[in-house]
Amino acid sequence: MPHIIAVDGPAAAGKGTLARRLAAALDLPYLDTGLLYRAVGRLVLDEGADPADAAIAESCARRLQPSDLDRADLRGPAADHAASNVAAVPGVRAALLDFQRDFGRRHGAVLDGRDIGTVVFPNAPVKLFITATPRARAERRWRELLAKDPSATLEAVESEMAARDARDAARSTAPMLPAADAVLLDTTGLDAEAAFQRALSIVRERLGLAATPA
Ligand code: C5P
Repeated sequence: MPHIIAVDGPAAAGKGTLARRLAAALDLPYLDTGLLYRAVGRLVLDEGADPADAAIAESCARRLQPSDLDRADLRGPAADHAASNVAAVPGVRAALLDFQRDFGRRHGAVLDGRDIGTVVFPNAPVKLFITATPRARAERRWRELLAKDPSATLEAVESEMAARDARDAARSTAPMLPAADAVLLDTTGLDAEAAFQRALSIVRERLGLAATPA
């Protein structure tokens, strides 16, 4: 099987930036699996329905098209909330599993999400679980949000994020948790470059790859 690198962790821990850079460095395709849940959440909202409605959420997941992942409205508080609600529906998770596995099996991949190392690819040779303190994560997300919404407050971002993390960790199907063989990387106090260098050296060590000069 080609190389699979699983990158899991809570919201705004730095997974996306890290996973994208790892993929480029290792010449592997990259999949942001959060986008799948975000797109399903948006389809449910398009229908005027509640993202926690299991039957509607599952039917939206079953008719998800690749072009839905290109929508411009997949980020922001409404999409965050809808995604984490549809993600708690077992039928939604089942519907998205094949897409993720097919993507990874074709040429190998770096995938980021919540359950890549535990459910989607439990045999991945490298699993990273990226964390940072709730305050550090909320500050990062708040700074991003301020550009679009100058009235956003750090307290509101932190409490919304805590609710989302709690929902992701408490759901009965595929809860967010580090795989037993995952390497934990705490990015509090690390900039994106330092986090990337640490992650890359863990991946190289696990895959038995020699470091190549930059
Ligand atoms: O990673 P991102 O913040 O874009 O994910 C949005 C939401 O999608 C998460 O809060 C989580 O509920 C869900 N998700 C998931 N499993 C994944 C990826 C994302 O449940 N593998």
